[in-house]
Amino acid sequence: MFDRSKSTVLVVDGSAANRALICECLSQLPEIEPLAVSDGAQALTAFRECSPSLVLLDIALQDTDCISLAREMRIWEHLITPDGLTNWTPIVFLSSIMDEEVLARGILAGGDDFLYKPISEVVLLAKVRAMLRIVAMQREIHAAHRQLKETALLDGLTNIPNRRHFDETLVTEWKRCARTESPLSIIIGDVDFFKQFNDLYGHQAGDACLRAVASSLNESLFRVEDMIARYGGEEFAAILPGTDTGGAQAVAERMRRSARELCIPHDSGVGGLVSCSFGVASTQPNSGSMPLQLLQAADIRLYAAKRAGRNQVSAR
Ligand code: GH3
Ligand code: MG
Ligand code: MG
Repeated sequence: MFDRSKSTVLVVDGSAANRALICECLSQLPEIEPLAVSDGAQALTAFRECSPSLVLLDIALQDTDCISLAREMRIWEHLITPDGLTNWTPIVFLSSIMDEEVLARGILAGGDDFLYKPISEVVLLAKVRAMLRIVAMQREIHAAHRQLKETALLDGLTNIPNRRHFDETLVTEWKRCARTESPLSIIIGDVDFFKQFNDLYGHQAGDACLRAVASSLNESLFRVEDMIARYGGEEFAAILPGTDTGGAQAVAERMRRSARELCIPHDSGVGGLVSCSFGVASTQPNSGSMPLQLLQAADIRLYAAKRAGRNQVSAR
């Protein structure tokens, strides 16, 4: 078992003596866990299974062309990248001969540096430190990037997905439902008499109300594939993949009750409390159609709910 708090350095060298020498040298760095293998096949397996932070790769392996091996490692890194942020692992070639052409080919194949044998302990440790420093910086940049991406899809006031996130998810789910031949429903919810709420209680109370309503609507969704977003000012929209009109109507009713049960006073509201109205529309997506019509249908239902007295659900 590998200690995950340590950085694994994969040492690939056909000579047992060389492997022992390098690993002994690396043991001076307590943050490192060396993993030594003797051929290319083992190296590729270890690279895939252990995701090392650094590879020290002897250029003269018996069984493998190391340039191709480096290329395969780079291909693997790209293959296992789900979110477009490839984890780059430095590859340092170990070579007994200083050959400029081999060096150039090695770097082109995805290598990062060369170390010449006999390996100087000082140079090896310095290069390992430098490479691991870059790897650590790369991890920080990736973490910051993921955080930013997440923030870019959230609404700043309510902390639920924003309109952009909604639009992107709708396109994805539309295609998925078309493929799986399952229905898709949209719910659009709108806070009733919200202009008056702001006028009566002030904009800050309005913001607090929107936050509370957003989380109550969000908590009314039980399936992981369902999502609700802030669609505009005091409007919210939910995507329910694999749900037909009846199911979506039940979810909208749960949302309506949940917002109502917040019991936020609203002197000009329905029955003296904040409430929301909901429009529901469902369809069977297909590859030739677009989600716009479904959104319009949900919007028409929303206005029917408003006209019929608010604090209610209208479904097509
Ligand atoms: P209806 O029942 O027909 O929906 O009436 P309404 O007053 O809710 O609808 P209207 O579209 O006339 O007004 C919406 C109000 O929502 C106006 C706007 O000031 C308020 N609003 C939109 N975004 C925000 C926000 O982020 N914070 C606050 N406090 N108010 C907002
Ligand atoms: Mg509105
Ligand atoms: Mg409104």
